[in-house]
Formats: sequence, structure tokens, C-alpha cells
Amino acid sequence: MPLYADIVLPLAQPAYCFSVPDGAEWEALGVGDAVAVQFGQRNIYTGIVWRLHSEPPHLRRIKPIGRRLYDRPLLDAKQMQLWEWMADYYMCTLGEVMRQALPSLIKPRGRSVEEFSMQEFRPRTEKYISLCEGWRSAERLQQEACRIERRAPRRSALLSVLASNKDLTSGAGLLPRRLLDCDAAQIAALCKGGYIDVVERERTAERDMDSHFILPQLTSAQERVVEEIRASRREGRGVHLLRGVTGSGKTEIYMTLMAETLSRGGDVLLLVPEIALTGQLIERLERVFGSRVSAYHSKLTMLRRTETFLRLAHSSGGELVVGARSALFLPLRHLQLVIVDEEHDSSYKQSDSAPRYQGRDTAIVLASLYGAQTLLGSATPSLESYANAEWGKYGYSLLAERYGDAREPRIIISDTMRSVKRGERRTHFNQVLINAIGSALERGEQVMLFQNRRGFAPYVQCSGCGWTPRCPNCNVTLTHHRSTERMECHYCGHTAIVPRFCPQCETADLKGMGFGTERIEEAVATLFPSARVARLDRDTSTSESAYNRIIRSFESGQTDILVGTQMITKGFDFGRVAVVGVLNADNLLLSPDFRSSERAYQLMTQVAGRAGRRQSEGVVIVQTSEPENQTIGFVARGDYEAMARVELADRHAFCYPPYSHIIQLTLRERDQQTLRRAAAHLAERLRTRFGARVAGPVAPPIDRIRGEYILRLMLKVENGRSLKRARELLREELHEAEKSADFKRIIISIDVDPQ
Ligand code: ADP
Ligand code: ZN
Ligand code: ZN
Repeated sequence: MPLYADIVLPLAQPAYCFSVPDGAEWEALGVGDAVAVQFGQRNIYTGIVWRLHSEPPHLRRIKPIGRRLYDRPLLDAKQMQLWEWMADYYMCTLGEVMRQALPSLIKPRGRSVEEFSMQEFRPRTEKYISLCEGWRSAERLQQEACRIERRAPRRSALLSVLASNKDLTSGAGLLPRRLLDCDAAQIAALCKGGYIDVVERERTAERDMDSHFILPQLTSAQERVVEEIRASRREGRGVHLLRGVTGSGKTEIYMTLMAETLSRGGDVLLLVPEIALTGQLIERLERVFGSRVSAYHSKLTMLRRTETFLRLAHSSGGELVVGARSALFLPLRHLQLVIVDEEHDSSYKQSDSAPRYQGRDTAIVLASLYGAQTLLGSATPSLESYANAEWGKYGYSLLAERYGDAREPRIIISDTMRSVKRGERRTHFNQVLINAIGSALERGEQVMLFQNRRGFAPYVQCSGCGWTPRCPNCNVTLTHHRSTERMECHYCGHTAIVPRFCPQCETADLKGMGFGTERIEEAVATLFPSARVARLDRDTSTSESAYNRIIRSFESGQTDILVGTQMITKGFDFGRVAVVGVLNADNLLLSPDFRSSERAYQLMTQVAGRAGRRQSEGVVIVQTSEPENQTIGFVARGDYEAMARVELADRHAFCYPPYSHIIQLTLRERDQQTLRRAAAHLAERLRTRFGARVAGPVAPPIDRIRGEYILRLMLKVENGRSLKRARELLREELHEAEKSADFKRIIISIDVDPQ
């Protein structure tokens, strides 16, 4: 019997050794089990048994494990392998993966045994009825019902109901108490009469696991794609990329493949980039797959998430889960198909805290562990995936036409400078856009306007001296918000009132410069006073219900014009959008990131895809001061391949992904001098190892956030070189560097494959 257990705790620390107590009940302890352990002075954590062994550790005092939680392992071997892959690849600890992977109710913690127990998950229970021995026969019950009918008519009626329930009469079946329409006294009487027993059991939602799915009839093009995906699997290619233009019916293809997998008893995981958008999708899936569909994302209550997690751990397959990237951690033990919808979407990447993982890439690893197929879908695939398809690593299908009569929207590039010169621009709208909106409204059709900044004005400026209010904690200008009449920092949340006088020259004329969604909303309402205008951005959708209200109102035609940020670009299937306006394409194109052209193409194409999804032709108007820009040209012609060719050539020339992997180190510290010294020192160390593959230190565009200065180092590992070896060397170097005094106060975060 092993004497020790290495246990992973939800902390940024390596696994920690505990002793296994004596006693028969501990003999069954296995890896993957959840246990309660005391760590530190008085914290009790949930930990996962990672390894059992008999090597005495070099610790002064070894604490024993507290107790075992749950009646079976929380993780199976494959989940543990996935966690290990993540910790290794994304350079974090297993504890950090654990923090992310398990809903907090599953991993209670407390400062005392009592507090710990209070936090523990308790399944909701429900009363169930079973028939007593001797009464498990419809005939006997019915006879009894007749016998007592005159004396006890209500009890007799109840017995007839029980007699008609096949589950009950056939033997050991249980009937939820709530399904019986009667009061407590009657149930008590039946118990007393020896007819039934009442037991309290964990509540299980009744789920219909029937496999008669009514699927849409596929078009021949869709049918061909499904066949290609099947062939890809037969040929043993684990990943298949589907590029399907918006409105081509990717969802219908997903549903066909899902049905096949579910009928075989396999589990399906469908990942979507942002859960806010899943409402429509889940409704569509439920129409076909009914109660098999489970949603899993951070907007659900902790109880719901925990119930789903534990229920799946017991499932015998045939599950369909729709979720955000965190759904990757669910125990889908019969996984056969993983679909990543809108695979290009950068919200698949978790950037703000460890593990800084890319959900799409992790999904591929997960699927390969189970021997499942991964299907990546997008109208505008990421260049990483597209290159993998070109290189033959992934299977590839193209679905180039929209479904039915819906035609591709017409894209018009509108030159803002020329508009200004000709006196054809009013506030933020070129004449072409104004005309298009006007005639759409006359026809009773809808309009979407896209602007990628929220708030009223991105910055405020003094007309006297040019002074601009900045955030005291971050190196950014404050955004003016009209609804609150305050200026807000979008990085730390700092707010301030708009000063009446300029503190520098005392001019009383501070103006909001540039424009955000709020200002567009106001301007369009002024141009079209009778139109009903709504706005969808982070400020208006603070709750899920507020978000749903805005979406539903637009869906049902209560709103004519919807103004919004990125939030309006994704996945929606609105019927009557005739015009989509991109108010300022320039600020999409001008970001310094090597992915900016790819992103601009994706974003504009996705917004454009919202237009004309039904019979009428849609029109998309892109306002820009750079009509000759190459990327805008690709968008206008809908030429993804050309965009990809040009971008990939550039990436190749500069050895950027997909021709390399980037590991980015971010160093933060309040004192700028210390930070500079430390970053220079680290850069030097890394250069001795990696040479010219190291870039920096450089300050990011926003080089101070929440009072901390920021510097970055970048390590580029070209394809063909071992990324694993690079991570090992980097770990060693960081370990060494951390010994120097300057590093004591510095916070370093590592981002592998940053986005
Ligand atoms: P995508 O996800 O590729 O943008 P969708 O799957 O949302 O496209 O399909 C666009 C529209 O066309 C939806 O309203 C969908 O119901 C409809 N559609 C697509 N394929 C079919 C089909 N084979 N049968 C019926 N409706 C379809
Ligand atoms: Zn001034
Ligand atoms: Zn700030």
C-alpha cells in the first residue's frame, strides 16, 4: 500500500506530498480522487491525488490527508493527461489548471473543518415513490382500486394512476413524487396501507435519450462537405477545417454529424467563442436534440455547473454539450466529436490569467486523447488553421454559397475623405450610408452599425492647449461616457468627472474627440428621428437579461437600428438586416499587431455576414479614409484566399506564426527603474541561450496599467525547432534569474502563443 500521495492544490504551486492514513478505507484511494487536506496554518483545500508512491519526501513534517470526497474519482486518466499537457505547454502549474478547470463548488475550501463542510456541494434531492412487494402488478392494483372505490374514492383513483405506470408495476421503478397530483395526507395513507414506499433520492432531470432526430434536409453542397468530413475521419486525420461563408449552413452540417455521433453513443462537445451568443444556437439545437443538450459556461449558476459536471462524470455517453472554452474540462468520457465554431475567434484564448490557454488548440489535444475527431468551422479561418490545412495536416472543406435564396451581400467602400471634400458627410456618416439607411428604413428593414469603441468619445481634449485627461493609474486617455457624464479608464475602471476648465490653460472648452458607440447612437437618432435605435456593447449589456432584451427586441423587429461593438458581429442569424455599416475601418487596420490585417478582414467579413441573410440582398458599407488599402479590397471582393496568401507570405518573411511559435514574457513592477534593470538582465540571459530569437524588452502600447509599469520580452521559436526544448531552457533561465534581488518584486507572466 502506498504511503504517500502527491496532491495538486488549486494554487500556483507544484503538487504537494501528504501521507496516506492507515486504515482499510484508504486502501481504495486512487489517482484522480478528490480529497480534503490541510495546507498552511489553517486552510483546508480540496486537492486531487496525482500520484501515489512510497518515496519518503524531504519534508520536516508530513501531514496526513484529511478525508476523501465524492464516491468516485473526480478525474479520469485522460483528463489528468489533458491537465498535464496544459501545465507543460502553457507553462503554468497543475494547480492553476485546477483552479480553472473545476467549478468552485466542486472544490470547497475553508479555514476550518466546519467552514469546509459548509462549502461542500450537496445534491438537490427529491422524493420518489416505489410500490411495495406484492403490489407490483397492474392487475392487483386495479382490483384493489375497485375494491376500495366506494369507501375511499380518492385513494382508489390514486391506485389506478399507479397501476397505469409501467415503470412502477414492472418492478423496481421509481416515480417522482411531484408527478402525482395529490396531497401529503393521501401519500401518507398509501404508505400506511402498505402499498407504497417513499424514498428521498438525488434529483435527476428526466432526459429523453431517444435517437430519432429530425434533421434538416441537407443541400447537395452541404452533403458533399459532410461526406468529406467523414472521409477525413476514415483516413485518420484528426482535425478537419470547414470554411463556410456566413449563412452557408455550417450549423446544419454540425447537426448532421452530431446526430451520427450521438446515435453511436458518443459524446459531442460544441465550443462557441462567447456564451452570450449561444441563446439562438441552443434553441436551434434543442429543436433537434431536445433534452440531450447541456449548456456549460460561466454565466450559469455555480450549482448548475456543478450538477452538470458531476452528472457527466456518471454518464454512459450520448451527451451533447454546448459551452465556452471552460467546457473542455468536463468529464466527457465517451467523447467522439469536438466542434469548434468560429474557430478564428480570439476569445478562445484566455489571456488574462494562467493557464493562458487557447481553447481551440486545447480542444484538438483533448480530442486526440480520446481518439475523437475535431471539426473547426469558420467563415474566416485563423491563418494558423488555414496553413495547417494547406500543409495537409488538417482535412479541408469549402462551402462557398449561402443557403437558399440568400445572396452574398454587396460591399461598398465609401471614401470618408472624399465625402468630406464634397460636403457629403454629416456627423459620422457619409452620404452613401445615410441614403442606404434611409431607404432600408422606408422598406421596413433593419440596420446594424458597427464601431469598435464603446463610450461617447475615446478621449477629451482642451481646445486651447490640446491637454487631454489621462488615467492616473494607466498610460491611457480617459473615455467620455455620455450616459454617466463621466470619463472612464477602460483598463482599470477609474472614473472622473469631465473638468469644466482645463487645468493647464483654464480654457473652458473641453471637447470629446473621436467617436464611440454612444456617440453613433446619438448621431443616428438625430439623423433618423423616427427610427427606433438600440445599442449593444459592454455598457448596455451588464447583465444577461439586459443583453437578451436588446437582442430579442432586434430579432422581433422592435428595434430598427442596432449600434454596437464586436458584440454585434458574431453568429447572429437575424432575418431582416438590409444594411450593415462599418463606421470607421481605419482603426481596425492601424493597430501595430502582426495580426491586425487578418483581424480586420475577419471582423469586417463577420459584420458583413449579418446582412441579407434571407431573400433580400444586403448591402454593407465600409467607411474608410484608406479606400486603397489592400485588406479592405480583399473584404470587398470576399477573397479570403488572396488575403491568406498575402498575409502568409508576410508571416513567412518575418517568421511569425504560423511559421513559428511565440512565447511572450510580461514583466510588471511599480518602480520603473527596477523593472528596466530586471528586464534587461533577463533579456541578456535569454540571448545567451536563444540568440536572435529573443526580442525586447519593449514597452507595450499601454505601458502602465493599475500603477504598474510593463515591459515585454518575446521569444520566437521557428517551426522545426523543438518548442518543448525551448520551454525547458526558458524555465531554467527564469529559475536562475529569479534568484537576483531585482526579481523579488517583479511579477512575470508567461504567455505561450499569445493573441
Ligand atoms: P452559418 O452558421 O454557416 O452562418 P447557418 O447554419 O446559421 O449558417 O444557416 C443560415 C440559415 O440557413 C439558417 O437560418 C439555417 O436554418 C438555414 N439553412 C441552412 N442550411 C439549411 C438546410 N439544409 N435546410 C434548411 N435550412 C437551412
Ligand atoms: Zn488647455
Ligand atoms: Zn486606468
